[in-house]
Amino acid sequence: MQRIFNFAAGPAIMPEQALRRAAEEMLNYRGSGMSVMEMSHRSAGYQEIFDHTVSLLRSLMDIPDTYEVLLLQGGATGQFAAAALNLLQHSADYVDSGHFAHGAMTEAAKYGRVRCAASTRETGYSRVPAPGEIDADPNADYLYITTNNTIYGTSLYYVPRVSVPIVADMSSNILSAPCDVRDYGVIFAGAQKNIGPAGLTVVIVRRDLLGRAQEITPNVLNWTVMAEKGSMLNTPPTYAIYMAGLCLEWLRDQGGVAGIYERNRRKAAMLYDYLDGSRLFRGKAEKQSRSLMNVTFSTGDADTDAVFAREAAQAGLVSLKGHRIAGGMRASIYNAMPEEGVCRLVEFMADFEKKHR
Ligand SMILES: *Cc1c(COP(=O)(O)O)cnc(C)c1O
Repeated sequence: MQRIFNFAAGPAIMPEQALRRAAEEMLNYRGSGMSVMEMSHRSAGYQEIFDHTVSLLRSLMDIPDTYEVLLLQGGATGQFAAAALNLLQHSADYVDSGHFAHGAMTEAAKYGRVRCAASTRETGYSRVPAPGEIDADPNADYLYITTNNTIYGTSLYYVPRVSVPIVADMSSNILSAPCDVRDYGVIFAGAQKNIGPAGLTVVIVRRDLLGRAQEITPNVLNWTVMAEKGSMLNTPPTYAIYMAGLCLEWLRDQGGVAGIYERNRRKAAMLYDYLDGSRLFRGKAEKQSRSLMNVTFSTGDADTDAVFAREAAQAGLVSLKGHRIAGGMRASIYNAMPEEGVCRLVEFMADFEKKHR
C-alpha cells in the first residue's frame, strides 16, 4: 500500500510504524480482549499505558523530577487561558510573534493585566522579535513565548534572558530539536503536530509554579488540581495518549531528539536551499527566523500558487496550501515526514518551475 506525503500543519503525518502497531492492536490490545479505546481509564492496564507515555516523554526531553507532566484535553488553545488562570496575579508579558501568540495574549487579557513585550505584527510576522527587542518587565508573573509560529513559518532560536518564569507554547516544534526544559517554567503543546493525534495536550510545569491559580480557574484547566489527580480528575484522552506513546517509541528508535534533529535540519536545508536558488518560488520568512518545521513560500501570484498546490496534490504531495490568513504555500515537515517526502517535493517544485517560468 502506497501512503501519500502529507504536508498538513496539524493534524499531521504520523510515523507509519506507530499506525501499523495501532492497527495490529486495535481489536485486542495485548490479550486484553478489547481495544485501548474501550478500557477504563481507572484500570491497571490503562494506567500502564499512561505511565509508559509519560516516561517516554520524560526520557526523550530529559524532564527533571522537579517538573510535572500533565496529559490533558482542550488543545493548546485551552492552555492560552490556563497560562493566565494558573499564573497571572499581577501582570504578564507576551511576545507577539504570530497568530497563536496573539491569540494567547488576547485570551489572557480576560483574566488579568497583560503587556506586549515585543511584537512583529506590523511587519506581517515575517520574522520573530530579536532578543534586544524584548522589553521585559522584571516584575511580571511570567514571560510568554511561542517557540514556532506554525502559520508564518518562523521560529525563535533563542531563550529570552529574563529572571521571570518563561511559559512556552511549543505546539509545532516540541521534540524537533534539543531543548533544555530547565530554561522554562512551563512548556505546553497540542499533540497533533509533533507528538501524536489531536485531542491530547501535553503540559510540563515546574512544581514550584503550582498553587498560584486564580479562584475562578476551572478544574480541568487547573494544573495544580490535575497534578494532584495524576491528570485524571476526569477522563483523559485515553486513545490519543496510547497513540502518542507509540509515536514516542518510534522517536526513541530514531535516536531520540538528537537523531531526529539532524534529519530535520537536512530536510529543511533541502527545501530552503532550493527556494534560495529558485527564480519562481520565494521563501516567505526572513532567513534568521526560518522554521525547521513549517516552510512557507509563494510564487507571488495567487493563481499560480493555486495551480501548484493542486498539481502537487495530484502527484501525491498533499496539503501544501498555506493557511488562509497567510496565503501562498506551506510545507509542514514535522518529525514524521521522511526525507524522501521532502526530496520528492523539491523535485516536483523544480519541474513546476521549468514549466511556469
Ligand atoms: C496549532 C497550534 C495551536 C492551536 O492548537 P489547538 O490544539 O488546535 O488548540 C496553538 N499554538 C501553536 C503554536 C500551534 O501551532
